[in-house]
Order: sequence, then C-alpha cells, then structure tokens
Amino acid sequence: MGDLTNISVLKRLLEKNGFTFSKSLGQNFIIDPAVCPKIAQMGSADKEHGVIEIGTGVGVLTAELAKRAKKVVAIEIDTRLKPVLEETLSEYDNVEIIFADVMKLDLKKLINDKFAGMKVAVCANLPYYITSPIIMKLLEQRLPIESVTVMVQKEAADRLCAPIPSREVGAVTIAVNYFSRPKVLFGVSRGCFMPSPKVDSSVIRLDMITETPYKAEDEEFFFKTVRGAFSQRRKTLANSVAASMNIEKSKVIEAISDVGLPDTVRPENLTVEQFIMLSDKLGKIVSSSPTQ
Ligand code: SAM
Repeated sequence: MGDLTNISVLKRLLEKNGFTFSKSLGQNFIIDPAVCPKIAQMGSADKEHGVIEIGTGVGVLTAELAKRAKKVVAIEIDTRLKPVLEETLSEYDNVEIIFADVMKLDLKKLINDKFAGMKVAVCANLPYYITSPIIMKLLEQRLPIESVTVMVQKEAADRLCAPIPSREVGAVTIAVNYFSRPKVLFGVSRGCFMPSPKVDSSVIRLDMITETPYKAEDEEFFFKTVRGAFSQRRKTLANSVAASMNIEKSKVIEAISDVGLPDTVRPENLTVEQFIMLSDKLGKIVSSSPTQ
C-alpha cells in the first residue's frame, strides 16, 4: 500500500471507493507522516501488548500499530470504509476490524475474547464529538487495560490533564484523575489532518491506577456530586451542589465543613481526595435525613 499520509495517494484511494468525509462522525484523517508512529510508540504498541484502536479511518494509525503490537483490534462505525481497509491493511495478519459503534460494544468481553494473556493498551485518534463519553466508558468500566493514549481536541486535553487544583479543572478532570494519571504528550496542529478541523489537537496518555489510593463509598453518588459541583461554574461549591442535587444548603455546608473546608470554597479548589470525602459525608447526611 502507498503512503497514506501522501495527499494524492489518499485522495486517489478515497475517490476510487467513492468515499466522502462525514463531518458528523468526526472524520478528520491524519496526513502528517510523523504523528501516527509517535502515537504508536508512546502508546505502548509493542510485542508485549494487544492494542484496541477506536476509529480507523483509512487505517493510517492502524498500520503503525500493527507494525509494532502483538495484535490490534480496531473498532470503526463507518462500514463504507470496509473496502478501503481491506486494501490498506492487507499486509497485516495481526489486525482485526470490528464494524460497530464503540459506545454500544461490550469492551470487557472484547478484551477477554481477543486479548487473553496479553497486556492491553488503547491507542486512537478519537472522533471529537464523543471524546468524553468514550474516555469515561474506558475508565468507569474498570477494564483490564494499562493505558489510554489518544488524540483529542486541545481544549479537551487541557481540561482532562489540568493540574488539580486549578482554574482549568472541570468534572471530567476529577473523574479522570480518580481512575488514572493523565498527561499531555504532544500537540498536533490542525494542518496535520484532512479535512483540516477548526481546532488544534493534543495527544494525551492516561495511565490506569491499579491500586486506587482512595475509593468513594458509593461511586455513582461520587460522580453525581462531582457533576453537580461543576454544573454552575461561577457559584460556590455549596450553592452548586445544593441547587443541582436538590439538597438543603445547610446540609451541604455541614458536609463541606466536615471535610475541613470553608463554606465559600469553589469546586475547582478541591482535590480528588476531598471530593471523595465530601461525597462520603454528604451521602451519610442525605441518607440519615428524613426530609431528603
Ligand atoms: N484513525 C484515523 C486517523 O487518525 O486518520 C481516523 C480518525 S477520525 C478523527 C475518527 C474515526 O472514528 C472516523 O473514522 C470515524 O468514522 C470513527 N468513528 C466515529 N464515531 C465512532 C463510533 N461511535 N464508534 C467507532 N468509530 C467511530
């Protein structure tokens, strides 16, 4: 197969197959030859690992993963890419493509079925319209994966990997740090894609925490509290949580002061551990209250 990052090769391939880009599926394909080898290398694609890719496009990253990893299972929603991928990946016998919506797949079963006895990593250039849902699906299900190395919109990367505490922190920062150690690896400019998106991108890596230092007593309530805390950004933590979770403000303040924080504290000033303590305390206060 010719060089898929060469624009004329790529255009010829797509034209031959009558393929047109779908904006709604986030189809911006990489045309910079340096990007995919770097994602594969920094994403642990090696002979010890099986790799899951989400969103193959024409297979430019898939091929770099296949060259390095023991096995690649790639998930792509767009069946129009089937004849394209048959051509571009024909030389690799360690690649399997599953045509499905990643959000509807049972990833635990997929890992058990396809990667028995292997360490598993996720590497992808994600479709940006569902970046957070995909990342949260990978994390919340506590899948047996070591790391997630993905390209996302730069603003999303900055939010996901924001230092805690800081002004950039959002609910997703706390959620991601509950399960993993996130870091930005490198930036990728909009000119590295075809078609070129309106935003720049960054590649991030999340290393899963195997032994959670702190665990919320009720994880569902913990995430509800975190989402509630950041639902009204300019408000104090007490006001946001009280309003969004429909809990009396005095009870929220009681839980906040039990954690040792002032009642004027803002959500972006809390650490993950403090959010866990807050949700544990709030959960107890709410469940022992006859009026809630
Ligand atoms: N990996 C290729 C590259 O880097 O050039 C393509 C990346 S492109 C940003 C995202 C890909 O994800 C597209 O091929 C798109 O069709 C696919 N995709 C979009 N939504 C998806 C979903 N829900 N499940 C699986 N794949 C999806």
